[in-house]
Amino acid sequence: MPRQLFVTTALPYANGNFHIGHIMEYIQADVWVRFQRMMGNTVHFVCADDCHGAPIMIAAEKAGKTPQQFVADIASGRKPYLDGFHISFDNWHSTDAPENHELARQIYRDLRDRSDGSLINHKSVEQFFDPEKNMFLPDRFIKGQCPKCGAADQYGDNCEECGAVYAPTDLVKPYSALSGATPVLKSAEHFFFKLSDPRCVSFLQDWVQSRNARGAARLQSEVLNKVKEWFSTRKNPDGSSSEGLADWDISRDAPYFGIEIPEAPGKYFYVWLDAPIGYLAALKNHFIKLAGDAALGAQHYDAFMADPATEQYHFIGKDIVTFHTLFWPATLHFSGRKTPDAIFVHGFLTVNAEKMSKSRGTGLDPLKYLSLGMNPEWLRYYLATKLSARNEDVEFSPEDFMARVNSDLVGKYINIAARAAGFIAKRFDGKLGEISDDGAALLGQLRAERASIEQLFEGREYAKALRDTMALADRVNEYVDANKPWELAKQAGQEARLHDVCSVCIEAFVVLTTYLKPVLPALATQVETFLGVAPLTFASASQALGAGHRIGNYQHLMQRVDIKQLEALFEAPALAESAPATVESKAPGGEAIAPTIGIEDFSKIDLRIARIVNCEAVAGSTKLLRLTLDVGEGMDAQGQPILRNVFSGIASAYRPEQLIGKLTVMVANLAERKMKFGVSEGMVLAASHADEKATPGIYVLEPWVGAQPGMRVR
Ligand SMILES: [Zn+2]
Repeated sequence: MPRQLFVTTALPYANGNFHIGHIMEYIQADVWVRFQRMMGNTVHFVCADDCHGAPIMIAAEKAGKTPQQFVADIASGRKPYLDGFHISFDNWHSTDAPENHELARQIYRDLRDRSDGSLINHKSVEQFFDPEKNMFLPDRFIKGQCPKCGAADQYGDNCEECGAVYAPTDLVKPYSALSGATPVLKSAEHFFFKLSDPRCVSFLQDWVQSRNARGAARLQSEVLNKVKEWFSTRKNPDGSSSEGLADWDISRDAPYFGIEIPEAPGKYFYVWLDAPIGYLAALKNHFIKLAGDAALGAQHYDAFMADPATEQYHFIGKDIVTFHTLFWPATLHFSGRKTPDAIFVHGFLTVNAEKMSKSRGTGLDPLKYLSLGMNPEWLRYYLATKLSARNEDVEFSPEDFMARVNSDLVGKYINIAARAAGFIAKRFDGKLGEISDDGAALLGQLRAERASIEQLFEGREYAKALRDTMALADRVNEYVDANKPWELAKQAGQEARLHDVCSVCIEAFVVLTTYLKPVLPALATQVETFLGVAPLTFASASQALGAGHRIGNYQHLMQRVDIKQLEALFEAPALAESAPATVESKAPGGEAIAPTIGIEDFSKIDLRIARIVNCEAVAGSTKLLRLTLDVGEGMDAQGQPILRNVFSGIASAYRPEQLIGKLTVMVANLAERKMKFGVSEGMVLAASHADEKATPGIYVLEPWVGAQPGMRVR
């Protein structure tokens, strides 16, 4: 019986283009989907843009667009990526579509109106409110000083300096990142999904450990171990911990870009409530499109989801496990719906051993990859050689990429066809011949691996499936090397053996192509055309083309990776994007070089190495720090060290404790200057761009190790 599957990837947030991490997930899911289709199973593979929430609302406002326009513009850029990497989604939808509004409201009503007692309750929540923007602020839009280490400009949920995790209300001197206004605490009624309800807890504890109808685990063991921890203890924002699952806050107050909660005007579903429901909406919309009729499509969707034979799978990254292993199954189960058969979690992709960073240019830009003419199936193959069923990070290394594609894919696999097809075409009218026992034995070995390869693909052990396939390619190459068709072709009386050996190669190539087809779909299509065969399925691996089958003319199937392509791929983007290089060279750092001076002018400025013995914030100033400097001037008559007091406008760049004890350079003979906060006895040297708004940052100079306070800089 063919299986019927519903497969999704995580919904990408519609505030930016895809990065290589998205593409890896889509490739992982697509390989699995293509494998299932090759097994004769029916698969509905869908995804959608995740459109709602405050970040998109705010980004849209900044861009001068409505949120709807904003997400539509992002959505319109998806196709080149998906087509470019041969991702075979059946439908791409949106969480702001009518199907999702309707489903989210219905699911909410089902949770609320349960006959055994509602799973929705209301609690008053105190939150920061921006009095200028007139809205409640999401954690990420509240900034202030870290309550633990005092670092300035930290987000409302955690400190990037010391790593502390806290509630936005813990921030010292909080301000709104939207308006700069000081937020006020305001209460609002929030809606909660009662995850702490004993019904939910006992269902979830059972569900995460249960097996699906096929007898397979719903969660990978390493994911299950993590999830189990959440049932016992939970870390609160203030650092304390509580027992068990907490209720889940599922509402946000207007203004919010989202789905309005039924019977609750001005209240919206938190984006994470309606985002996974988007999986169902995308599927429903797919059925509507297939039926060409909304009512009929909705009927088909209902029937499909009600069918116990339907299997449901979600491919996701390790950062969104909570939502998919707790919230999502509970939402589905308690609204009377089918829960997923499994959640497939993958790790992150690192490129050149670094976490991807757009600004540093170490990332692998998917569209740049395609624009350089690099074969998308190289990347599919390479990533598949790294992917297993485990939730572990994957490393992209350019050297490894080139080696795997050039020596394995082209060197071992493509070469088999390249070496045999020409002889078949030229010497045997394109027709395959009879195969003798040694060739039949080899083909038997290749075909015997079919069940094992199928199991590996089913279990998402792509790396192992490809390793085993390449080991089979090695055996075929050994056979070719032992029989040397290029020599047989020169020897009289060896026509039949040449025909035999080359026919074995082509038959072997069919088997190998079948095993590789989930990963290399476009290449497999070229092979099918050249061999004159129907689209290969896994059953094809067991069927010989047979003597007399006519193949077409061989044309080169795949190029090797050129190192120059990889160099171009990882070349940092030209700086010219923001300002042409010629202009920059006339005005380095944003300003022209000052008029020429003689050495006598320079020597008038007495620059000295100074030790920063103390540094503190200046009450009443956000710009200045007060530095106490030792320039090696010794002791005064009272035996106190002679120190300088200097005010410096570097408070935006440094916290006092970062500077204490450091050496720097100061102008030691600058006339004293009376300021509002006291007398400044010199100046420390720091670098900055002329236009600090465009290129922010102030950098205090620091001498090399060994310099001593008092030494003159000349
Ligand atoms: Zn901190």
